[in-house]
Amino acid sequence: MAEAEMFAFQAEINQLLSLIINTFYSNKEIFLRELISNSSDALDKIRYESLTDKSKLDAQPELFIRLVLDKANKTLSIIDSGVGMTKADLVNNLGMIARSGMKEFLEALQAGADVSMIGQFGVGFYSAYLVAERVIVTTKHNDDEQYIWEDVSGKQLGGGTKITLFLKEDQLEYLEERRIKDLVKKHSEEEEGDVEDVNEEKEEKKSKKKKIKEVSHEWQLINKLKLIWL
Ligand code: ADP
Repeated sequence: MAEAEMFAFQAEINQLLSLIINTFYSNKEIFLRELISNSSDALDKIRYESLTDKSKLDAQPELFIRLVLDKANKTLSIIDSGVGMTKADLVNNLGMIARSGMKEFLEALQAGADVSMIGQFGVGFYSAYLVAERVIVTTKHNDDEQYIWEDVSGKQLGGGTKITLFLKEDQLEYLEERRIKDLVKKHSEEEEGDVEDVNEEKEEKKSKKKKIKEVSHEWQLINKLKLIWL
């Protein structure tokens, strides 16, 4: 077991985080769009890498994005089997090193830009803090070991990334299946224009599953469009 390493957030990240956490902003739902599009990019990357090297999919052959709603723990997790992040990726991309987009985004906000534009500045991940008080990132890249950003004894990932959001008390609506389902549908419509909801077809499976799993709701997104009950 590796020792925990501490990295301090650079000033700009603290500034960005406190702005995201403290600013009154009602359109918080954009966080899900940002996190799903990160997962979807990560899947595109591993799919692309596997074209020239099939073994890239050995550790995790299935390509998926899963959403897990855990009411008991008040967490929403977005899990993907994408490319994952090495330690260096984590530190550079999500962690403590400020990126130029942060400063630009802070300036844009001061000039009246909307928070929902966060993705255009390459710092969309931080929108997670619109709804979460804590975020844990668990990730596994083929070229590195598994890393957990923040604490917790995570289940081993074959490959990919899991983002666990510990929701703020006033954001528990994101544990409601209906809310998430509608949100994903809305996002898919924005992106692709056409959505086929296969959830209804799974009704039978769904009710069976519901009996076993009362606290945790889990869906899978297929081709970015279809949300299915697992
Ligand atoms: P952007 O996606 O616009 O680059 P983000 O702040 O959302 O900005 O993410 C920063 C970077 O972190 C991404 O470019 C990517 O390298 C990495 N990242 C974020 N989420 C994931 C994920 N689910 N899987 C792999 N890498 C990720």
